[in-house]
Amino acid sequence: MGGPDREPDAKKGEMFHFAETAESIAATTSKLKKISFLASYLRDLNEEDLRAAAVFFTGRPFPLTDARTLNVGWSALVSAVQQISGASDETIHQIYLDRGDLGELAERLLGSPSRPARGSGEAGGERLSSASVQEKLADLVKLSGASNKMPLVLDLFRSLSPLEAKYVIKIITGDLRIGLKENTVEEAIAKAFDRSAEAIRRANMILGDIGEAAVLAKRGELDQITLRLFRPVKFMLATPAETEDEIFATFHGAFYVEDKYDGIRGQLHLDASRAALYSRTLDEVSHQFPEIFEAARNLTVPLIADGEIVAFKDNQVLPFGLLQKRLGRKKPSANLVAEIPVGFMIFDLLSFEGRKLIDEPLKYRKEMIEAIPWPEPLRVAPFLLLEERVQLDPLFEQAALRRNEGLMLKDASSLYLPGKRGMSWLKWKKALATLDVVVTGVEFGHGRRRDVLSDYTFAVEHDGKLLNIGKAYSGLTDVEIGEMTEFFKQHTVQDYGRFRLVEPGIVIEVAFNGIQKSDRHASGYALRFPRIVRIRLDKTVSDIDTLQTVEKIYQRHVGES
Ligand code: AMP
Repeated sequence: MGGPDREPDAKKGEMFHFAETAESIAATTSKLKKISFLASYLRDLNEEDLRAAAVFFTGRPFPLTDARTLNVGWSALVSAVQQISGASDETIHQIYLDRGDLGELAERLLGSPSRPARGSGEAGGERLSSASVQEKLADLVKLSGASNKMPLVLDLFRSLSPLEAKYVIKIITGDLRIGLKENTVEEAIAKAFDRSAEAIRRANMILGDIGEAAVLAKRGELDQITLRLFRPVKFMLATPAETEDEIFATFHGAFYVEDKYDGIRGQLHLDASRAALYSRTLDEVSHQFPEIFEAARNLTVPLIADGEIVAFKDNQVLPFGLLQKRLGRKKPSANLVAEIPVGFMIFDLLSFEGRKLIDEPLKYRKEMIEAIPWPEPLRVAPFLLLEERVQLDPLFEQAALRRNEGLMLKDASSLYLPGKRGMSWLKWKKALATLDVVVTGVEFGHGRRRDVLSDYTFAVEHDGKLLNIGKAYSGLTDVEIGEMTEFFKQHTVQDYGRFRLVEPGIVIEVAFNGIQKSDRHASGYALRFPRIVRIRLDKTVSDIDTLQTVEKIYQRHVGES
């Protein structure tokens, strides 16, 4: 590593250079400078460190397609920092409130004079590199339970300098917060190895592993990437559309209209001897959905298909609330499978008989999908090809009658762009309903919003009591949030630090896409995707919606379930 100009730093571990680079990136708002700092750092790394560091710079400990999770929680990290630094609960609380970031807390406490100097930057410390930190994190994955993991966490932190610890913690918690988006990391890799940003983006999309993409860029092997069976590919995503005019203005040629199912995304990989189903987070979920997995094995042709897993019975899609009973169970019981069977609505095909189809137009892929004899409960998601302008509203209504969430609209000539939320797929949803609710609790936000009260817990009314039903983060402008912050600070009933109970005076209108029973909130219900539509300064707490209204909406959309 390093040319002559790096010589004075050679005593420090590579992880220290990582942290220094991250600091420089955080300190500038110029995207060009961020790219330039990162590129010159990446250019000098060996393959192992490059593979790990590129991933770290996206704020993850492991590549996206890697199913490993650390399961090292906030309290374990705080406790490790506390054990090493000897800081009191009060000090921890104060610094955390002040900085709102666990990494910064660690840097400050581990750098305190009471702690002997250690770390890969200083004498006596093990010199850690990005690759060796990643190995240590991989060791943590293998242990289960916070108490088993703790000795390793302590060991890791003891061998890190305060600055390194700051970034390792940020990586463990999955949030670097240095103003670096994944596409900026891609541009930096491109600059480091003199490749086009587009080539890096494509490699990252297909591999779902930016570290591997960086290594291939360094080796000059970007054009050798193929889709591999049983290595899941990132999903193509859709951009929301609000109106019919917007939809017709976006597409210039023919486009497909499909129902937007309210289920979970799935990617099916198949060959003669094996079938596997992957979720949107690219984790394997085959055993959670045995009906799909087993039916798929009857098809012995190698392929990768994209679709939505839905609860499905008597030729009908069932509400998401029912599918939810199937989620999170490693293996459902036979009873549950019989009670709530699932199906797989297939809307795309990424490869077939070893041929990569993602670079073919959607029209071609649709023709291929239709020609395959999918065994039940695998089905082709019905689609309609629109070649001229028609009224979409009736199609929307029909989709809603089939209990689907809305419509998906897809450019017939578009390629499959893994991981991309572009304009060739649009989604059109209408809110299920809106509710007028009162804000009962407020919380400081994250990142840009860490100093303003931007997250609101809200309630409906029942028998003169306020019952919380949800929490919403988005929807208001910065100016509104600023005004609300001032207001809530003056109307705080109880201050718990980052969370405050407030006087119930502000009424907001919230939209949501679904509703389900839940014991998370006092009302006994939870809303799906709640968002603030507007502040209703024209309303007071006596005007808010009641639990009865909520029950009615629930009955209408979920029936007896
Ligand atoms: P959203 O989760 O609101 O961003 O909407 C995108 C999601 O809708 C996708 O990730 C799929 O899980 C889901 N979806 C449902 N039906 C379709 C469809 N016909 N085509 C593509 N995605 C669909």
